[in-house]
Amino acid sequence: MGYIEPAPIVDHENPFESMMSRFKIASEILGLDEEIYNVLKSPAKQVAVSLPITMDDESIRVFEGFRVIHSNILGPSKGGIRYDPAVNIDEMKALAAWMTWKCAVVDIPYGGAKGGIICNPREMSSGEIERLTRAYTMSMFEIFGPDKDIPAPDMGTGPREMAWLMDQYSRAVGHTTISVVTGKPLVLGGSLGRTEATGRGVMVTTLAAMEKLRINPYGATCAVQGFGNVGSFAALLLEERGVKIIAISDLSGAYYNKDGLDIEKVIAYRDANKGTLEGLADAEKIARNELLTLEADVLIPAATEDVITVKNADKIKAKLIVEGANGPTSYKADSIIHDKGIVVIPDILANAGGVTVSYFEWVQNRQGYKWTRERVNRRSDRIMKDAFEKVYETAVKYKVSFRIAAYIVAIDKVAKTYKYRGGY
Ligand code: NAD
Repeated sequence: MGYIEPAPIVDHENPFESMMSRFKIASEILGLDEEIYNVLKSPAKQVAVSLPITMDDESIRVFEGFRVIHSNILGPSKGGIRYDPAVNIDEMKALAAWMTWKCAVVDIPYGGAKGGIICNPREMSSGEIERLTRAYTMSMFEIFGPDKDIPAPDMGTGPREMAWLMDQYSRAVGHTTISVVTGKPLVLGGSLGRTEATGRGVMVTTLAAMEKLRINPYGATCAVQGFGNVGSFAALLLEERGVKIIAISDLSGAYYNKDGLDIEKVIAYRDANKGTLEGLADAEKIARNELLTLEADVLIPAATEDVITVKNADKIKAKLIVEGANGPTSYKADSIIHDKGIVVIPDILANAGGVTVSYFEWVQNRQGYKWTRERVNRRSDRIMKDAFEKVYETAVKYKVSFRIAAYIVAIDKVAKTYKYRGGY
């Protein structure tokens, strides 16, 4: 597949700058009007609030909270809420834009948002986190809403915080409104299939790409970096379809077996071993980053950002990289990988199975009806497969990488919708 060599736009490897660089390239290829480029470049709304909280020792601490809505052109904005000491508004702006592209590429009717609070939840009691969550919800009361802006969990938050947010919003509005947030516990309107949704989407896009590359899944080899929610489900579901998972890793190290690991057993081991792979039997322990450069047909980075960079890109031997994690490949590594003939299924496509099933959660909540796991899986598989085909056709049409093609699909959709809707 041909490729338009991107002009160097940034000279550093920040994942969010990398994302904006790719956005710029895709906009240029698409011939986007400068006015529309400027509209999509900047967030639609940014809110910063201070949240005075009475701590358990009765002192009052003031926390800073944010919500950035990048775009609500396609529909209500969607995006996680992060509780972390490193939260800052610039990062929120980039992450919110990322959500806009991700939702657009899988064609779900959402815009993009992101929020967060500067705090360290590991050093706070459950009561303090609950009060903080309720205070944040009230401060964002005018922003959130099932038809306006729908939060979800992110780093440092989970179903517990989403339940408090839903409860507080419902109290304020005067009636139970479960569709204001996704990622809720199952009993409170969470969706079946959400836990495995991102890994499942990674499996679907991996198989679709293997078909295009004429790699037979039966006996093909795969290395998976990160064995958390995304990595372990992607590994399990690919193994079920005949792929040999020859290496996995987590923070404790990487584990290799050339004949393939038994993923069900490995998951059981991890769950019984306080969540770590340390001490895994039937595998050779290798250096953590060695996994990335193993001889394998497929490489799935599903751990964290910025792991494939100019430092190791030329050593990668896989034919296909499927980005389970957000931002695992730096912008500068893109062209090195492309020159080696490696195909990359980008994060905004490969890991969009999660937001797709979050959308299904919202749809079910609004229907007042619960879908079976089979229905959730069938519909999300179809969305992921359709999105893959659209990106593939775009890559062929414009002679660009899958990554730039995914951005083209997303930006084109948002820009066309903006034009139809019009403005002031
Ligand atoms: P997780 O916390 O469940 O798992 C992360 C795993 O990666 C753990 O096994 C951890 O030990 C391992 N890890 C961390 N740093 C590592 C390193 N340097 N080398 C090897 N292993 C390392 O997280 P998750 O939910 O599976 O998310 C993983 C990635 O996928 C993140 O980038 C996240 O933003 C992205 N993502 C997650 C979802 C989702 O639905 N969970 C959706 C979209 C994108």
